Amino acid sequence: MEADESSTLHPVVVDALRTSTLSELMVPAAYGGRFEKIDPLAVCVAREALMKTSAHLDSLFALQGIGSYAISRAGTAAQRSEWLPLVARCEAIAALALTEPVAGSDLKAISTTATERNGELVISGSKSFISNAGAAAFYTTLVREGDGYSLVLVPADTAGLTISPSPEIIAPHVLGDLVFDEVVLPATARLGEPGTAWKHVLATLAVFRVSVAGAAVGLMEGALEEAVRHTREREQFGKPLSRQGPVAGMLADSWADLESARLLTRQAAAMAVDNPADALDHSSLAKLHATESAGRVVDRCVQCMGRWGLIRGSKIEKYYRQARPMRLYEGASEVLRLGVAARLTREVD
Ligand SMILES: Cc1cc2nc3c(=O)[nH]c(=O)nc-3n(C[C@H](O)[C@H](O)[C@H](O)COP(=O)(O)OP(=O)(O)OC[C@H]3O[C@@H](n4cnc5c(N)ncnc54)[C@H](O)[C@@H]3O)c2cc1C
Repeated sequence: MEADESSTLHPVVVDALRTSTLSELMVPAAYGGRFEKIDPLAVCVAREALMKTSAHLDSLFALQGIGSYAISRAGTAAQRSEWLPLVARCEAIAALALTEPVAGSDLKAISTTATERNGELVISGSKSFISNAGAAAFYTTLVREGDGYSLVLVPADTAGLTISPSPEIIAPHVLGDLVFDEVVLPATARLGEPGTAWKHVLATLAVFRVSVAGAAVGLMEGALEEAVRHTREREQFGKPLSRQGPVAGMLADSWADLESARLLTRQAAAMAVDNPADALDHSSLAKLHATESAGRVVDRCVQCMGRWGLIRGSKIEKYYRQARPMRLYEGASEVLRLGVAARLTREVD
């Protein structure tokens, strides 16, 4: 509970993740990871359990994969050997820096640039609302390079990079803004070839977007348990709330939302195990359904609990706030709907 109200990294949670060895799920076995390649289903199931316990813990776990996946996929042997074993042991915290003050959903509108001069890259611009900023050991950073876009691995201690906290949000999160003031790195800091950023960003989403749905499932499970405990205990009009028709209905509908989201999520994650890119639309569908369901479920749970659903610092109040950002990050619902509908119109003869 304490970590979930913190917008800086909570050392106890970092230690818990480190000793759990779960970060090994985020790196291929050749570099200290658990499986030969990253298994989206395993990541999803882990996020269900972690989010139910702590959003801070869940986010820290998720970012180890989201921030480092482009290194696993496109890094040179030297980049992989330097960073991935540290990520797997949770000795280096990872981050992915895409969003900018102006560019959110429309990432092609970014204005951070990288210019190659004499074998070096010079990066100028800024990023905002970056998870783990200030705590991360490196930032996988999206830049404009000429007419295209590239990813660059920027170590946190690089001269010219400054970090400040982002505004506090309703569900505290480790978030920061980055400024790149003529940051100079060797051209070998690029991840993959120049101009190949979208390939690697899409690959990252293909593996990890569905895991947000997993986290939403965990949140729903936690919220529903709170509502069940309360409505079973509290009586009004001579019988438990859980047996009053409309309250029972809200519990039943919430259970149906939870289980359907869990099934869709695990199915999409299982599809992504063999072919993440092909499963991306299903991952978007699962993320859309699970996060929208989480919003409805947690709202119903608060309603079932009456005034006890409103107590600051209670688990249910925490879940209520935490459900909200999930419909915005890693693909806002409206943007996901556009992609999912486009796929649907292609599928139907
Ligand atoms: C807790 C948290 C953690 C984050 N962590 C990271 C991180 O680690 N790295 C990173 O790079 N970014 C991160 N972000 C930023 C996040 O990715 C953006 O918030 C997200 O991409 C949405 O962009 P935006 O907030 O600028 O909203 P906007 O893009 O301004 O969208 C606002 C609204 O308009 C809708 N909209 C936009 N375009 C369309 C369209 N074409 N059609 C229909 N509706 C549309 C959206 O769905 C949304 O409802 C984080 C954000 C949060 C809240």
